[in-house]
Amino acid sequence: MSRILVTGGAGFIGSHLCERLLADGHQVLCADNLLTGSLSNIEPFFGRGDFVFLKQDVTQFIHIPGPLDAILHFASPASPVDYLKLPIQTLKVGALGTHKVLGLAKEKAAKVLLASTSEVYGDPQVHPQREDYWGHVNPIGPRGVYDEAKRFAEALVMAYHRSHGVDTRIVRIFNTYGPRMRAGDGRVVPNFICQALAGQDLTVYGDGKQTRSFCYIDDMVSGILAALDRADSDPVNLGNPNEYNILELAEKIIALCGSKSNLHHEGLPVDDPKVRQPDIGRARSLLGWEPTVGLDEGLARTIAFFKEQS
Ligand code: UDP
Repeated sequence: MSRILVTGGAGFIGSHLCERLLADGHQVLCADNLLTGSLSNIEPFFGRGDFVFLKQDVTQFIHIPGPLDAILHFASPASPVDYLKLPIQTLKVGALGTHKVLGLAKEKAAKVLLASTSEVYGDPQVHPQREDYWGHVNPIGPRGVYDEAKRFAEALVMAYHRSHGVDTRIVRIFNTYGPRMRAGDGRVVPNFICQALAGQDLTVYGDGKQTRSFCYIDDMVSGILAALDRADSDPVNLGNPNEYNILELAEKIIALCGSKSNLHHEGLPVDDPKVRQPDIGRARSLLGWEPTVGLDEGLARTIAFFKEQS
């Protein structure tokens, strides 16, 4: 049994991590300032002796009494809509928050895993994206606040690894979906499902030919914990390599919801990547991991969650 801190533990991926870690018999400390996370995601764990919630802004000094074996650093706005609304908080949590987390890891001799992102590749000119691709990011565009914060966070993690010998992991997470995403989160899967269930037109940005590769949350959690256990300090991509364009995704969601919704085209957000697909060769060989839940199955489970909410 380990004692593990999850920052951003009340968020979408964070809360699923807390749940899996508790099920695996670990003691979980969940830190979140509830800026984009929600207590409803972790309510089922309240009252357990092996779960502690800390309402904590991780850009401030983090005090954790007692030993700590690992830190999973997931605190950050992660939806383009959220980080466009919260640009300074996004930069601060990626930079100052990562610094506090690394200082804590050094103090406690704890392993630390950084939730990085496919956004470090920007609007990629190499396809699919491998970890050795350095990316194509606009530092001063609206998405730069997230992309550059995560790129800085990766650099800081490597510096603590090299200078202080901290045992570090970096996972680059590609589009992930599933239950507990916020209805108003702005990302394409919750937007389309909520619109289809309400019989509204689906808002396709641009011509809808841009691609993404969607990974179901349970697969992502398995990949993250495999990386914590078995990865080395170099970044590893985690995602589902099956690539779809946004029109295909819209049609799938309309069909799975049994909806009569139509499509409504809106402008493409600035610097919206045209393609995105992970090369997961490194995760396959290093971790023995690959996704197992197909898009239809994962969407059906996610639609069931949103139906329960409404
Ligand atoms: N998108 C869309 N309609 C929406 C929300 C998003 O067409 O209601 C598009 C968006 O422009 C992008 C893709 O879907 O090309 C994925 O967007 P998301 O916000 O989920 O995450 P991203 O991959 O851009 O970080």
